[in-house]
Amino acid sequence: MKKHNFSAGPCILPEEVLQKAAEAVINFNNDNLSLLEISHRSKPFVSVMEKARALVLELLGLENKGYQVLFLQGGASTQFLMAAYNLLNKKAAYLNTGTWSSKAIKEAKFFGELVEVASSKDKNFTYIPKDYTIPSDADYFHCTSNNTIFGTQIKEFPKTEVPVVCDMSSDIFSRQLDFSQFDLIYAGAQKNMGPAGTTLVVVKESILGKVSRTIPSMLDYQVHISKDSMFNTPPVFAVYVSMLTLQWLKDLGGISFIEQVNNKKADLLYKEIDRNPLFQGVVEKEDRSFMNATFTLKKDNLKERFDSLWSAAGINGLNGHRSVGGYRASMYNALPLYSVQALVDVMQELERTA
Ligand SMILES: *Cc1c(COP(=O)(O)O)cnc(C)c1O
Repeated sequence: MKKHNFSAGPCILPEEVLQKAAEAVINFNNDNLSLLEISHRSKPFVSVMEKARALVLELLGLENKGYQVLFLQGGASTQFLMAAYNLLNKKAAYLNTGTWSSKAIKEAKFFGELVEVASSKDKNFTYIPKDYTIPSDADYFHCTSNNTIFGTQIKEFPKTEVPVVCDMSSDIFSRQLDFSQFDLIYAGAQKNMGPAGTTLVVVKESILGKVSRTIPSMLDYQVHISKDSMFNTPPVFAVYVSMLTLQWLKDLGGISFIEQVNNKKADLLYKEIDRNPLFQGVVEKEDRSFMNATFTLKKDNLKERFDSLWSAAGINGLNGHRSVGGYRASMYNALPLYSVQALVDVMQELERTA
């Protein structure tokens, strides 16, 4: 039986997507060729790319609103600098909620003045700062919607006049939001959309073309837009599997459906963390992530027993990030509710037998 996969990333993908991806590697489109050995300019692949881009806009509710979709390479980490390269003239405002925000800030500093509007570093990123002011003369405001490592998530985004850039790597397509409040969204595929190797960029075209510097072609959103995300060879496998995952989500009922499932999964686990006297959550309750739940054992001496119980139950990927310790259960879209139930059962078994 397949393991209960709580891996933080790369992470679980829907079983039927894996099946279709495996078939396409051998025989794509019944053309007796592998997806991996045909031209990215061939009709079958161009239509994969077109479908993937269209599904993104459809699922996010951003059709006909001036947004462009790109599937790029270099990971979300390249977007830390690419966003600044394309948008930062003089000054940008950043909210620092963890490791990924801090890395984004570090890269953007190469391009102009950085204002850190707030930071939760004082409490090891266990909460989301809420009272802060975004300077009205900033070129843009940048935030990280879900803090994958520490397990916090922004529930309400600030209202501001300046363009909003959001790193949604670990919670895109997981919950309903008014996505039109964002001007640039980026996400590494490997958390909630597909395999590693491609990065989704959704950008409002009207915010581009406003910086005075010259941008190298590969880092210029406008170049990629003008070539329909085919400026150079795209990561064909990662784009194909992302397309399959987006289609899977659409067939299920889209974001509004998956959000209900995600809420159920998170409720189930957080209720157990709060009820079970052996465990405690790591972050402020109101800021808890519905994707990555972080928790610890109150008594270290139970660690060995807990670890052997969950691994015997077929659970994978529960260890916390090396910078936080403890445990992290990542409950991305493709993780079934019964996997969360399996984890809760193990937590209760530990309580009964400790
Ligand atoms: C994983 C992650 C990243 C880094 O993504 P790469 O594709 O590995 O560069 C950036 N931001 C967030 C929120 C992440 O979870």
